[in-house]
Amino acid sequence: MAAPKYKILFVSSELYPLVKTGGLGDVSGSLPKALKSLHQDIRVLIPAYPSAVEKAASVKTVATINLPKAGFPGNMGFSSDIAQTPYATILETKLPGSHVKVWMVEFSIYNRSGGPYQDDQGNEWIDNEKRFALLNYIAVEIAMGYTSLNWHADIVHCNDWQTGLIAALLFEEKKQNNLLTRPATIFTIHNMAHMGIYSKGQFQALQLSPSLWNHHELEFHDDFSFIKGGLVFSDRVNAVSPTYAEEIQTEEFGYGMAGLLRHRSKRLSGIINGIDMKEWDPVNDPMIEQNYSPKNITDKYANKIALQNHFKLPLTRSDGKEILLLGLVARLVYQKGVDLLLEQMEAILELPVQIVILGSGDLELESRLKQWSLKHPEQLQIQIGYDEKLSHIIEAGADAFLMPSLFEPCGLNQLYSLRYGTIPIVRDTGGLADTVVNSSKRNIRNRTATGIIFHEANHITLFDAIHHTYELFQDKKTWKEIMLRGMKQEFSWRESAKQYLHLYEQAIEDRDDED
Ligand code: ADP
Repeated sequence: MAAPKYKILFVSSELYPLVKTGGLGDVSGSLPKALKSLHQDIRVLIPAYPSAVEKAASVKTVATINLPKAGFPGNMGFSSDIAQTPYATILETKLPGSHVKVWMVEFSIYNRSGGPYQDDQGNEWIDNEKRFALLNYIAVEIAMGYTSLNWHADIVHCNDWQTGLIAALLFEEKKQNNLLTRPATIFTIHNMAHMGIYSKGQFQALQLSPSLWNHHELEFHDDFSFIKGGLVFSDRVNAVSPTYAEEIQTEEFGYGMAGLLRHRSKRLSGIINGIDMKEWDPVNDPMIEQNYSPKNITDKYANKIALQNHFKLPLTRSDGKEILLLGLVARLVYQKGVDLLLEQMEAILELPVQIVILGSGDLELESRLKQWSLKHPEQLQIQIGYDEKLSHIIEAGADAFLMPSLFEPCGLNQLYSLRYGTIPIVRDTGGLADTVVNSSKRNIRNRTATGIIFHEANHITLFDAIHHTYELFQDKKTWKEIMLRGMKQEFSWRESAKQYLHLYEQAIEDRDDED
């Protein structure tokens, strides 16, 4: 039987290649394409950040949506903006390289340079609650079929706290207007650490329904939380890996919402992210020095030299030992285990390793890494900033890839690493645990090993993991087997997209059961 065809509104604050700060951007840029290829009618909704509009092709205005509209709880505190422009404009474009329609909400509060959440100096926008509440209200308008777009949604797929109010607003919409039904809602947790917490004053300024202010709904310790709206009101909730779906039900990873998540555990599941197999393909990647495949894996070596040259690292050591080149591409924040690495740097650099790092984030972590680089320029180099091309060059050139994350909802770089024959060194958490098989003696014997996993989040275990990696690196036959096995793993979005379709079916059933 053919899968049902749903009208899906996929709402996100990031969408690669138009706007991306991390994995959310990648997922939003890939999953809708995979759903479209499964014959779904999917539309993506994002804010019209000027930098995103600039990158988009053939942008046209397709609708205007009045603010406020009867049925909305209030004017969301936008009275002064509304006085100037009483409507938001919907711009339409296509997700580059696909036929997926993208709608971008144009309104004065998005019209600034800088990132989606922060200005150019890295300060959070002071009105993020308004920026994303507006996105949520517009999503509701479109999903309900109230706009001149002539389209309504069967499913609204929400992602992370920036879209957390949508399910709550749809619930209210149905209740207040005595409607027979509403679109079903899915909430995907890409990272529980960001919860969109704002004050009671801000809740009131947004003119959200006062009935939502209670600790079973949006209230969270005298403040309110966007993500809580998604967790409480969505028909189905999922995390981006099965292990992370379990972890967030514990106090350590639940950030005060573990109890709520346990309460909703029957509606909570995990679906591992896929990767864009075209974008991340060593056989055809135009950004790397030398393309290679499992059949001509020795060609990967040219990329190691190119990477060492890029960072002006010596190609050989004076003691003649072979260099193990380790890569790290990440937001440089505590979540990524950067301080574990820093704590053990002295000992790690005594091994014949070189480390190349690309990232930006916490200024203190950045500066400590830079100090190590100044001290050992022949072994450690760092480039601060965001650089898509260099991230490909690192994936292709490094021998192994470091991901010592304290927690990792899914993680994408370990998947890119596997595909590029770059052995991932990961901590046993979240999606890392779900996608990498440790090179224990037994797993090597069973021919299942694909990477190195360490368990406890401490610097000694990280050192041991890197040491173990070096030992394996010297056993060329085993190393090659592990590389090749990783390269053959299947992480395409198609399988994950099928699981999302199943989740949509379940969400519709759950919604109907409630009615
Ligand atoms: P998170 O979403 O927590 O940042 P993920 O591993 O899920 O982590 O996704 C991160 C994505 O962002 C990957 O595609 C990674 O390559 C990319 N990325 C992170 N930092 C940089 C950077 N400085 N330059 C280029 N790409 C980066």
